[in-house]
Amino acid sequence: MVKWESVVTGKKNGGLGIKNLIFQSEALRMKWLWRYSFEDQLMWKRVVGAKYEAEDSWMTKDVTSPYGAEEDALWWKGSSKGIFKVGAAYRLMEQPSQQIPIWPWRQIWKGRIPYKVSCFIWLLAKEAALTQDNVMKRGITLCSRCFVCGETSETVSHLFLHCKFTQQLWRVFLSLKGISWAMPRRITEALKSWEEAGVLAKDRTRWRIIPASI
Ligand SMILES: [Zn+2]
Repeated sequence: MVKWESVVTGKKNGGLGIKNLIFQSEALRMKWLWRYSFEDQLMWKRVVGAKYEAEDSWMTKDVTSPYGAEEDALWWKGSSKGIFKVGAAYRLMEQPSQQIPIWPWRQIWKGRIPYKVSCFIWLLAKEAALTQDNVMKRGITLCSRCFVCGETSETVSHLFLHCKFTQQLWRVFLSLKGISWAMPRRITEALKSWEEAGVLAKDRTRWRIIPASI
């Protein structure tokens, strides 16, 4: 129910953080080019050099220009120290296609929560879990009614935020913690408000467990 693009987007940018293999292999190939310019004695360099450098000036044409080489030393523009790093190159290639103004990535991925629960919250925050409204968007005809209260149509935010039964659960935790709370409209807003309410909490990672358990 989510686009592949958002699966391979980084967690901070609202994705699931699965590595994009095209970017990764590109970054690894760049690493070889980078190493080629420093390692003089190694066998692999001599083999590659013998094969290509003799034919044309492969090294100066292809290696130096994309990385902003100076005359004497290679300087990679992607990092402040000028040294090529695969991870940094990957992050540079992975520019978010659209900026998400509030994406609660810490609340989703940085709590002491099992990974599968984090993935489920990610789906909820994307409003892409298989609630009846999303099933209907796929062209399946249903008479959508909340599975729990039966009063209104079943959407992600109704089921996890606004349903009267879910609200009771929220109220238990809110009164335990003494928080005054107006229930936000969306899951992302709820996660963000919860984080703000927990500013004074001693242990952030534990604080983040509570919405996850609801
Ligand atoms: Zn309901």
